[in-house]
Amino acid sequence: MNRTGRDTRPAGNTASDGETRPLVLETPLIFEQAGPATTGVDLPDPPPGPPRLGPVAERASIGLPGLSEPEAMRHYTRLSQQNFAIDSTIYPLGSCTMKHNPRLNEAVARLPGFADVHPLQPEATVQGALAAIDALAGWLKDLTGMPAVAMTPGAGAHGELAGMMAIRTALADRGETDRTHVLVPESAHGTNPATAAALGFEVDRIPADARGRVDLAAFKARLGPDVAAIMLTNPNTCGLFEGEIIEIAAALHEAGGFFYCDGANFNAIVGRVRPGDLGIDAMHINLHKTFSTPHGGGGPGAGPVVLSDALAPYAPLPKVVAAGDGRFALAERAEGAHAKSFGRLKAFHGQMGMFTRALAYILSHGADGLHQAAGDAVLNANYLMARLSAVMTPSFDGPCMHEALFDDRFLKGSGVHTLDLAKALIDEGFHPMTMYFPLVVPGALLIEPTESEPKRTLDAFADALIGLVARAAAGEADAFAAAPRKTPRRRLDETTAARRPVLRWTPPAPTQEAAE
Ligand SMILES: *Cc1c(COP(=O)(O)O)cnc(C)c1O
Repeated sequence: MNRTGRDTRPAGNTASDGETRPLVLETPLIFEQAGPATTGVDLPDPPPGPPRLGPVAERASIGLPGLSEPEAMRHYTRLSQQNFAIDSTIYPLGSCTMKHNPRLNEAVARLPGFADVHPLQPEATVQGALAAIDALAGWLKDLTGMPAVAMTPGAGAHGELAGMMAIRTALADRGETDRTHVLVPESAHGTNPATAAALGFEVDRIPADARGRVDLAAFKARLGPDVAAIMLTNPNTCGLFEGEIIEIAAALHEAGGFFYCDGANFNAIVGRVRPGDLGIDAMHINLHKTFSTPHGGGGPGAGPVVLSDALAPYAPLPKVVAAGDGRFALAERAEGAHAKSFGRLKAFHGQMGMFTRALAYILSHGADGLHQAAGDAVLNANYLMARLSAVMTPSFDGPCMHEALFDDRFLKGSGVHTLDLAKALIDEGFHPMTMYFPLVVPGALLIEPTESEPKRTLDAFADALIGLVARAAAGEADAFAAAPRKTPRRRLDETTAARRPVLRWTPPAPTQEAAE
């Protein structure tokens, strides 16, 4: 093994502890399988003639491996077999809402009228696509009880940026440039303080109380003429509903600040609570969480941000607008009704493929189905909370919303840490929960099953965890430290991999090969 944990042996169908993994072959890097000298095709040399490529002619080999089609297919299929996906089993990552992505959404997104449109097509030729964006925008406004929505942000964090830019522009428009501070509860997702800081605000942390909610007294004490906004997640990242949110909004508005809500956890309350009724001024919605568009592995996402009447004039462009007679147009320039827009966040109109998937999800569920999905997500989380509370330590009293938070008190004295437990869970066939987040509880384990999982999957997951906790208590710390054993790669040195990533493969020196 080298320091990144990569097994340097040649290909073979053995897991790293020597156990055979049936019908799953190890796959070397594609550059280790073939070089530019090998070829998978047999083409005759081109007829002689003057070169016609001029300055773009190849000067030297770019070193691509010459694999045949089946070799290339097998390489990538084997790689995919080493990966994990929501289509394999439960993906219980708290704060991520990894739910089933209905295939209906995929079929709709692939309809040629959606899949083949180009963002530079004349408006008259994309009326259906614009109508679909407008229909989704209508649902998002109805579900949140908010009058406006900006559809362009490409992720939740991008939606935060859009909402906070609208707030900053609104404050500047009022001449309130002294409002330079943004309040962020200490349990917040890292994107919240990052967004505020990226826009030049000072970030002030608001502590949590013993119940895992915003400490109302500390919050009120911090309000003043220098506060631009609060960025609050509800339900919060401890999986708890901020029951005093109406009071928070009232006190903040009284003090002249804006209320930004991180809507990443909207799945827990969609169809049940309208954030607009709680006093929120801006909230992003992660379509790739709440509305089932695929994510994991880095995108694409979509993070439309709903806005209050006070913020709507500053929304980013372009915007889909009604053009009369049931037709739509794109407002692209900051003029007329859009003169106060803070400008453009993205080249085009948003993530069309995510819009169509989210709209398909919403229309196939209907208002009643969305209401039920939220209820089932909360029920599933509480089922796990109830079963696991017998052996693990919940961080806060009472029922949770969509995710169940535990800390590591139950591991005390066992020599097993949160990380070891998560790695051992992999050997049991389950993807681990979110670990060490939120930061407000020690050794956090945050489990979000979502509404997609049936009881038998929840039971299998809980049984695996309960079995592991018993083994930890029985003094098997060494076995935990050695996990995972059955994966294609053993435990990685994640810190070194993150701090000193090796991103380029270099061919082994010939002498090294001889020595192996
Ligand atoms: C996922 C998440 C975000 C960021 O959303 P992205 O779409 O990943 O940019 C922000 N806040 C919370 C609470 C989240 O769970």
